[in-house]
Amino acid sequence: MAEDTYKEPAPYRRGEANPFDSMMIRFDKAAEMYKLDEGLYNYLKHPVKTVIVSIPVQMDNGKLEVFEGYRVIHDNILGPSKGGIRYAPDVDLDEVKALASWMTWKCSIANLPFGGAKGGVKCDPSKLSMTELEKITRRYTSNMLEIFGPDTDIPAPDMNTNEQVMAWIMDTYSMHRRKTITGVVTGKPIIIGGSRGRREATGRGVMIATLAALQKKGIDVTKTTTVIQGFGNVGSVSAQLMREKGSKVIAISDVSGGYYDKNGIDIDMAIEYVKKNKNLGGGDFGTKVSNEELLELECDILIPAAKEDQISAENAERIKAKIIVEGANGPTMAEADEILRSKGIMVIPDILANSGGVIVSYFEWVQNRLGYFWEEDDVNQRLNRMMTEAFENVYNTAIQYQTTLRLGAYIYAIDKVSKVLKLRGIYG
Ligand code: GLU
Repeated sequence: MAEDTYKEPAPYRRGEANPFDSMMIRFDKAAEMYKLDEGLYNYLKHPVKTVIVSIPVQMDNGKLEVFEGYRVIHDNILGPSKGGIRYAPDVDLDEVKALASWMTWKCSIANLPFGGAKGGVKCDPSKLSMTELEKITRRYTSNMLEIFGPDTDIPAPDMNTNEQVMAWIMDTYSMHRRKTITGVVTGKPIIIGGSRGRREATGRGVMIATLAALQKKGIDVTKTTTVIQGFGNVGSVSAQLMREKGSKVIAISDVSGGYYDKNGIDIDMAIEYVKKNKNLGGGDFGTKVSNEELLELECDILIPAAKEDQISAENAERIKAKIIVEGANGPTMAEADEILRSKGIMVIPDILANSGGVIVSYFEWVQNRLGYFWEEDDVNQRLNRMMTEAFENVYNTAIQYQTTLRLGAYIYAIDKVSKVLKLRGIYG
């Protein structure tokens, strides 16, 4: 491993956006509309637990490197906290804090018996060997032994973490507990307790939310065009399923840039290409477009499924989609919300649109506790039911408060969490 394994990269976010502020701006607005009691507001504003650990790792070149890991538990009012772990060079506490509270709102909107959490390790997986990645994961997990647990805090995959990483977490935790405890983590490989349909769940949920939105707008899916930013797990599955439902996917992209074809892109070919070449770069899927140009293409449905802060006050004005479905967490900056609203664009917020992942994580946890595994059809049907119900609840709340689906989603979540908090009362 070269000496330059670990570098502080330039932040990828545009402008001065801070994800925690971006979440708080929406939370504040929703709390005000809901007239949330000041004490409860303060309770929900602060995470219940923040853990920072140091992760020393003997690298392949013999050098000792120390990485920083985080786990933020925003709350555990509805049940054990739930949320993914991301590995990224620029992950920081603010980002993890914002993502942890988004998980609280997400779980509450989906009606799951979970609170919200998020974890992260500041590292660049693209520069790490498998051995190094495994060492980081195991040491991070062993540092979190008092935090993680099937009844306390249940991690899952997020950006740059996958089934293998979840398997290492499960194994490390189980080794310390002297028995196999599959329910400590979700998003595992199916052969060691993962759920059928989990890998596709977020993309499938995006498709379900999109169909629900189209129905409200009276638009026939077979007459629509879809543009998708991001071709990872969420973007590629959303692309496949939207095409399956009859929408024409006219543009896709990933870190290497994007492609546009007004006649529709061959999604299966693109998926095969990425399997062989890691990303879309160098492929031939249509006219080349940049990630920024892609957002502004003429289309019915825009699915930002890449990363945070892609739609800002600067480019929101030029967006032409009728519906935006947020596959990623936080792709729209708070400053763009009002512009999109005034343009009449319906935005299905992240905390609703991408909740398919955590919903099937819940199914995985349930199956682990039961020791009985469901068929894929069963998983998909249950996901469909829960996502559709969540969409309806958010939609009706937005109508009741005469506001956007985003604020409707926050209000629905605040209502539920604050009611449970009042019923449980404050101990001490
Ligand atoms: N990381 C995913 C999310 O942001 C999934 C979390 C989970 O399954 O616990 O929703």
